[in-house]
Amino acid sequence: MSHLRFKEVEVAFNRTPVKVEIPKEAPSQYFAKYVFNRKKMYEYLPKSTYDALIRAIDNKEPLNRELADDVAAGMKQWALDNGVTHYTHWFHPLTDGTAEKHDSFVEHDGKGGVMEEFSGKLLMQQEPDASSFPNGGIRNTFEARGYSAWDISSPAFIHDNTLCIPTIFIAYSGESLDYKTPLLRALNSVDRAGTAVAQMFDPAVKHVTSNLGWEQEYFLVDEALYAARPDLALTGRTLLGHESAKNQQLEDHYFGAIPMRVEEFMLDLEIEAHKLGIPVKTRHNEVAPNQFELAPVYEETNLANDHNLLLMSVMAQVARRHHFRVLLHEKPFAGINGSGKHNNWSLGTDTGTQLFKPGKNAKENLQFITFVSCVMSAVHRYNGLLKASISSATNAHRLGANEAPPAIISMFMGSQLSKVIDSLVSDDKDDNLNINAKEELNLKVSQIPEILLDNTDRNRTSPFAFTGNRFEFRAVGSSANCASAMIALNAAVAEQLYEFKDVVDALVANGMELNDAILYQVKVFLKQSRSIHFDGNGYSDDWKQEAAKRGLDCETSVPKIFDSYLEPKAIELFKRTGVFTQVELEARNEVKWEIYTKKVQIEARVFGDLALNHIVPVATRYMSLLLDNVYKIKNLFPQEKSEIIASQDLAMIEKMSEHLLFIKDKVNEMVENRKAANQIDSMRERAIAYHDTIVPLLDEIRYHVDKLELMVDDEMWPLPKYRELLFIR
Ligand code: ADP
Ligand code: MG
Repeated sequence: MSHLRFKEVEVAFNRTPVKVEIPKEAPSQYFAKYVFNRKKMYEYLPKSTYDALIRAIDNKEPLNRELADDVAAGMKQWALDNGVTHYTHWFHPLTDGTAEKHDSFVEHDGKGGVMEEFSGKLLMQQEPDASSFPNGGIRNTFEARGYSAWDISSPAFIHDNTLCIPTIFIAYSGESLDYKTPLLRALNSVDRAGTAVAQMFDPAVKHVTSNLGWEQEYFLVDEALYAARPDLALTGRTLLGHESAKNQQLEDHYFGAIPMRVEEFMLDLEIEAHKLGIPVKTRHNEVAPNQFELAPVYEETNLANDHNLLLMSVMAQVARRHHFRVLLHEKPFAGINGSGKHNNWSLGTDTGTQLFKPGKNAKENLQFITFVSCVMSAVHRYNGLLKASISSATNAHRLGANEAPPAIISMFMGSQLSKVIDSLVSDDKDDNLNINAKEELNLKVSQIPEILLDNTDRNRTSPFAFTGNRFEFRAVGSSANCASAMIALNAAVAEQLYEFKDVVDALVANGMELNDAILYQVKVFLKQSRSIHFDGNGYSDDWKQEAAKRGLDCETSVPKIFDSYLEPKAIELFKRTGVFTQVELEARNEVKWEIYTKKVQIEARVFGDLALNHIVPVATRYMSLLLDNVYKIKNLFPQEKSEIIASQDLAMIEKMSEHLLFIKDKVNEMVENRKAANQIDSMRERAIAYHDTIVPLLDEIRYHVDKLELMVDDEMWPLPKYRELLFIR
């Protein structure tokens, strides 16, 4: 077996960069080449169809059948001109990644011939079998069928010779079975609520848009080494492996020179992404060895999320061309940094105002602080829910670990904005109402510098940070669908905006001046949400105690964290914003608990197999070599001398047998615990059992396996070691 390891190491070691052919055209020529964007629509659709479609997109109106037929005809022609043979409704089921069912354009005409068929009906709606995707029991209660429907706000694109039509996926009874449907509902809700509040400052505002700029972190591993690690292949992370002698201590990887093979991969990926209209921009090394990051320019949230999902699948494909595998797992390697996907998020108006950007005068700053106070209030009130939105079996390995955001949501505001907030909430005078808002504003908020950047903004320990003109939700995991976080955040903020508006309206109706009323409610929100504000070191143990004192959600068990979705205030929130019904929330939690359980179950199975069938036999063989040696020493030397000579070996044999015993015992225990957990009917209770009785064993057994790795002859060790996985590229 160890021969395989060395063979793969040699293969990986001898690889040379795969040269990428750079397109002859300029990037501006091939950017969005495979996207049916407005330019292609204009080219391929009759003028009247084009106008009607753009109107529908801009005003979020449904298409009628006739218009859809015309759009489908143009879209089909464009696809055929690009050599496309199939089309698919592309949607985001409640699993990782995306789903698609490819259909051929070719229709048999019944007279022995074929023709290319693609009608408005096929464009707008399809019926994939809902039962083959997670639905949390919705299909048992209702009809088994589901349908997918075109999301006209996200353009169709060509990928792998297939015309992909972004769609929502819902049950026949109307419940959403995907991420996109509730995301669109949440964005719609923050648009309405945000517009209502923004209109208090500028009546010309018609829409408020949520923006998202994600920063995708990932690891690359040579595919030969990957193939020799069943744990990586089956679970996405290494379940065992002792730390490499050299790790990231020197921090020499961060912003270091990009290795040549990786550089070619990145170039290739960038070109592919650009052809798909994904505006990727920055690329650099991350802190850990073989860890990298890719970020686009931010876009409207729904489109940005489609682009992230598409990019994750393109990454995997392009990596194969370069003999790499992409690891999107949040913690592929113990002891070194994990991967996140910072969600840079902001709200902006259709009149061009960035609502989290400080303004030039008191009035603009009142608007700025209004929106900031609503976000603080939302994050404060729903900190448990926001944590639930980013929690998963895989992200749990990253959160709470040393170098990642803690499993507690708090907000970093930076020293300058903190000063403004403090001065606004500091005066205890209850006669605020009598203070002229204009005066106080000039005093307190007119001074906010236009650019709020200070060094402390680089505080990397905060899971949710204000970074000058946006908020950065850093707790999101690298493998996550950003929609989950964006649904919770936008819905929570929408609700606070609604509340803000209601209170201000009521105060004004009672005769208060508008600006006074606004400032009054800003202070109320800021005061109420003080406990979410924390600019200190989020990695410290002190913070955990302090956060608990402040009443923030400190739960660390992922299955229990999911309970936040079913708390009365969350049910109420999602109902009021129209994002989820209670039935949908319950169904989704079933899915979350089930996925959690399955992931841990797979890890336990794979690890059990690795431990018993790969590690134990090799360690036993090595131990028996040592035993042979001891026998030979005893035969050759006089007793006293032989005892001295063999003492080290004997000690080693004893240690190894202790480790081996422990491993065998605990693997058996893990099997028994699994059997017991599988008897539990409730998905929630079963997930909790897996969390409480399986996960700790994985760590315990690993400790002993990793100790063996340090003892067994390197030549015999069957699995590629950390130093090989992390430093060969
Ligand atoms: P960092 O210093 O955090 O690495 P980057 O310059 O890489 O920052 O930007 C991170 C992401 O934030 C990019 O996708 C960028 O487009 C996005 N971003 C910048 N401004 C905004 C904004 N106002 N709203 C949303 N995203 C933004
Ligand atoms: Mg960032």
